[in-house]
Amino acid sequence: MAERRQPIQIDSAMLQHYIEALGSIGRQAGGGIVRPVYSAAWVQARGQLAAWMRAAGLDVREDSVGNLFGRLRGVDDSRTILTGSHLDTVPLGGKFDGTLGILSGLVALRALREQAGQPLRSLEVVALCEEEGSRFQAHYWGTRGMLGLIGADELERLRDDRGMTIAKAMRAVGLSPERYHEAVRRDLDAFIELHIEQGRILFDERVDLGIVQAIVGLQHQWVTVKGRADHAGTTPMHLRRDALQGAAQMAVEITRLVEQDGRPAVVTLGKWEVKPGAVNVIPDEVSFSIDLRHPEEEIKRRLATAIRDRCQAIARERGLVVSSEITSDSPPSSMDAALQAILISSAEACGASWRAMPSGAGHDSQEMARHLPTAMLFVPSVEGRSHSAAEYTTQEDAARGATVLATALHQLAY
Ligand SMILES: [Zn+2]
Repeated sequence: MAERRQPIQIDSAMLQHYIEALGSIGRQAGGGIVRPVYSAAWVQARGQLAAWMRAAGLDVREDSVGNLFGRLRGVDDSRTILTGSHLDTVPLGGKFDGTLGILSGLVALRALREQAGQPLRSLEVVALCEEEGSRFQAHYWGTRGMLGLIGADELERLRDDRGMTIAKAMRAVGLSPERYHEAVRRDLDAFIELHIEQGRILFDERVDLGIVQAIVGLQHQWVTVKGRADHAGTTPMHLRRDALQGAAQMAVEITRLVEQDGRPAVVTLGKWEVKPGAVNVIPDEVSFSIDLRHPEEEIKRRLATAIRDRCQAIARERGLVVSSEITSDSPPSSMDAALQAILISSAEACGASWRAMPSGAGHDSQEMARHLPTAMLFVPSVEGRSHSAAEYTTQEDAARGATVLATALHQLAY
């Protein structure tokens, strides 16, 4: 491992200015930001970022899917260490999610150029696109473009709410969708993403930084419980095959199973459909979603099996039939151990406290990590608020994160 280095000093006032200025692009009357990929606000934000990248002395370039890069050329310009995050937001999102990772990378590269000169290996900051999938449900689109994971069929298949294909939206902002494969990168040695935690562990424990060990695996299921519709007034309780009563008991017991397993397992039953959906009819069909997450695949699978067995048992006891469909299932994604060690030694060189932790949310890093060494650095979110206008990270925490990022990039590239 590289020897311990002095912290690189980033410009905290400049970082704050960038956060506020970028956060005003796409801002709605109520305060939340709407900046979906390939929208006018997204184009404006990207133009602003490109101007800041040029002012920082970086070479600016966009790829064929719309990712924007600022490059600090190394003595060896054939290999690249990449940092950054996503520029798109969820509807009415905050000004830190994604954005903070890009802006921290930008001030870090600026500070490195000024304080350390030319790196041995090239450094690049990236603004990735359509991570959230808010417009086309094309999650991690920019990252998948760089990794060669975009399917040709997606260009005409993926549509936004108004029916516009992603190919047409790309053309509207001057991109050539048929050249999507030109975004593939084979020169990347590492990816480091700084991101807000979006939870409240660091905030509650008053720890400066989170070093992510793994991004959770995530399974989505759609469960359907079938019973029999009968008259609400004339059917005695003991003769009912009420699908909702069964589903409600399943919900309570699924939650209890996961609570018993303890942190970091989480489960959410966020979407429900009740048929026939009348006040005076016993429900005969109830469907609900399960969102189950755990950073260890084995435990995630064990919990999924326990949930299925318990639902089957409840259905049998009540004369109901239950079926479930796994609608998506992604394994956990491990962060690179050597890069985690560099982040830890950088945090310590900067006098920052840290803890290792999983990420309960999905990030571009989970896709990157399956193809190249990747690590994530979390900064605290005040009260854990995220995906809302209430999202906030203090100036001190943001500056500390960017300082540690710059120091880690120094270790890696100089
Ligand atoms: Zn994000």
